[in-house]
Amino acid sequence: MTAAAIPAVPFLDLAAPYEELHTEIDRAVSRVLRSGRYLLGPELADFEASFAQYCNRPHCVAAGSGSDAIELTLRALGVGPGDEVIVPSHTFIGTWLPISATGARPVPVEPEPELYVLTGEGIEAAITPRTRAILPVHLYGHPADLDAIAAVADRHSLPVVEDAAQAHGSRLRGRVVGSGPSVAAAFSFYPGKNLGAFGDGGAVVTGDAELAERLRLLRNYGSRTKYVHEVEATNSRLDEVQAAILRIKLDRLEEWNARRRAVADTYRQGLADVDRLVLPRTAEWAESAWHLFVVRARSRADRDDLVTALSAAGVGTIVHYPTAVHRSAVYTSRYPAPFPVAEALADQVLSLPIGPHQPESATARVVDVVKEWAR
Ligand SMILES: *Cc1c(COP(=O)(O)O)cnc(C)c1O
Repeated sequence: MTAAAIPAVPFLDLAAPYEELHTEIDRAVSRVLRSGRYLLGPELADFEASFAQYCNRPHCVAAGSGSDAIELTLRALGVGPGDEVIVPSHTFIGTWLPISATGARPVPVEPEPELYVLTGEGIEAAITPRTRAILPVHLYGHPADLDAIAAVADRHSLPVVEDAAQAHGSRLRGRVVGSGPSVAAAFSFYPGKNLGAFGDGGAVVTGDAELAERLRLLRNYGSRTKYVHEVEATNSRLDEVQAAILRIKLDRLEEWNARRRAVADTYRQGLADVDRLVLPRTAEWAESAWHLFVVRARSRADRDDLVTALSAAGVGTIVHYPTAVHRSAVYTSRYPAPFPVAEALADQVLSLPIGPHQPESATARVVDVVKEWAR
């Protein structure tokens, strides 16, 4: 058989969710467009209430992006110049930049080398008198151990803000991510996330009514009442069209995460004997939302060799993320010290295709290509 006869496997089919839900989505979009109300209306209120309920938290405040959700939360907590915020060394730069935007300094801590998330001990060692908040990331959909992190935070009277951009529906000891024990959790609705809009969006869930109220001010010109401005603030809102679409997709989140899990299970079974790769591990207390399925090679050369083999077979892959955040151009001069775990991961990780609409045949094909490569 020639390569051309075998269908390519995209890294992620972003149009498939629309194809599955187009009747409902078309109806909702048309309803919003006909309503004449495009911002801060009933669709947003309905989505916020529904997402708060899904996360088992009393309050949800949506924003224009996940980055804004993080930044506004930090601002609402009073984080600013001179402050330090503890972050993972290994994450998307979107965890760090909102901290820098407040004027505070991201303080990187190396992740646990098998789960790729922060631990309580790692965080505790990095706390200084300037630390103002702890920002763990549930990377690739695997939760950080918030119970351990909250215990450290409580000892030092520091707030924990979760970067849950990759963890809609992940669970920690049976509890859905966002439900606590943090002060707040920030989500992204970027199209490729487990709960994705058709554009940008984000949200914060919290149990703190005052924090929620401050967030509502900060996202809307510092205003509760039109033309009455109480604080310096910005404009960062989730529009009515995106809110209506996200409300529909929220009802599919559990089912779509289960389909992601099925892809992950197929990979884990099919690739169990491939000793050229380390497969993702799941802690016994965790349920991953499988935002990404990330394998680790022994070296950069080996990882790049696998990329070449998969690409030649028509399989799309992405490296999350190819440059450690402290080594990226914006940060490198301010972070001269090495972070060896983050640097090794940038060299060695590779994300295989995964998504709720990935056919079993595609997953099986990826398994075959990887096994052939490893032979
Ligand atoms: C996507 C993402 C962000 C940023 O969210 P946006 O909606 O793209 O602004 C932040 N942190 C992590 C870990 C992410 O994956």
